[in-house]
Amino acid sequence: MKLTSLAILAALIMCPFLFIMSQQTRLVREDLKLRDYYDTVVDNAIMDAAQTMTQYSQGLSYSASTDLELSRTMAVQTFFDSLYVAFNAQSDVQKARVEACVPVLLFLQHDGYTLYALHAFKNADGQTQISHGWFPQAHYVGETLLDRYVMRYTLGDTVYAYDRIDQKLYEGTYQELASFIPFFNDARMFENLRLAAVRSSIENSMENYMAQYDQWAFQRSLSISFHFPAIDEADWRRALTDEGMLAFAQGFPVLMGRRYEHYALGGARIIRKEPLMGYSYQSRLWYCRTDCEYFDSVISTDPTFLSDTLIYFTDAYEAAQNGYYPCTHCRP
Ligand SMILES: [Zn+2]
Repeated sequence: MKLTSLAILAALIMCPFLFIMSQQTRLVREDLKLRDYYDTVVDNAIMDAAQTMTQYSQGLSYSASTDLELSRTMAVQTFFDSLYVAFNAQSDVQKARVEACVPVLLFLQHDGYTLYALHAFKNADGQTQISHGWFPQAHYVGETLLDRYVMRYTLGDTVYAYDRIDQKLYEGTYQELASFIPFFNDARMFENLRLAAVRSSIENSMENYMAQYDQWAFQRSLSISFHFPAIDEADWRRALTDEGMLAFAQGFPVLMGRRYEHYALGGARIIRKEPLMGYSYQSRLWYCRTDCEYFDSVISTDPTFLSDTLIYFTDAYEAAQNGYYPCTHCRP
């Protein structure tokens, strides 16, 4: 056989592979587009909700807890209305499906936080029902200082210290308590202790909540599990200094790769980093930017490339933690 015929034969054999590979690349793109759309929908919904909350709390007396409740209820309504519209959910079943993808909304208030979350309860007919409901307000509890002061923080400068030895409760600004809690002489130290308390309180609540949520999901034999999303240090700092809302969304249908997860902070739009994709190539784990030209032109078209090894990471840290190496071409 002539060399040209061989080349044609090779091309004929390769053609379907190349076609499949280009289809795969297109699928990856479509999948990313879909995820971006979900992110935008959730971000918009939380911004609408935060705006509603601000409107309702303005002009209302701050101390009245019913007003606070009303503004939160209206915020929840706005949040889900926005999602229903985006997903064109009109029937109760469709709405419930959307709601199930946002198991938790978290409200940060000055002196504590409240979850509006899916929970299981027995209805009037004695049947177990799962729907969203309000959880009791919880406080920002910090670590015990100097082995005697049990600390409670707020989103501001006010702190509560319970002295376990003298059994006395102190309330005041951190500067006022600095006379017997020397850490508070340093504003930055106070801020670190405060942020750590807010963050760990919320994380603990979320972890407890998730353990329960997973249990119901298991009992109902649903393939739903809730994971606490990794939140950037900078996002946490932004979230934990102001009253607002946090939404945890997950499980919207995707085309491929790992399940959809996203969190959004009310008020400030999160500037998301471009997601990264990881894959196995020539028996090594790599990660790339999603617009890597080398990946598009060389790796994804290589017949030895296994497209089912593709997964996504939110950042390089996450990729590295999972044993993936940065691509030398797009330098993610
Ligand atoms: Zn690359």
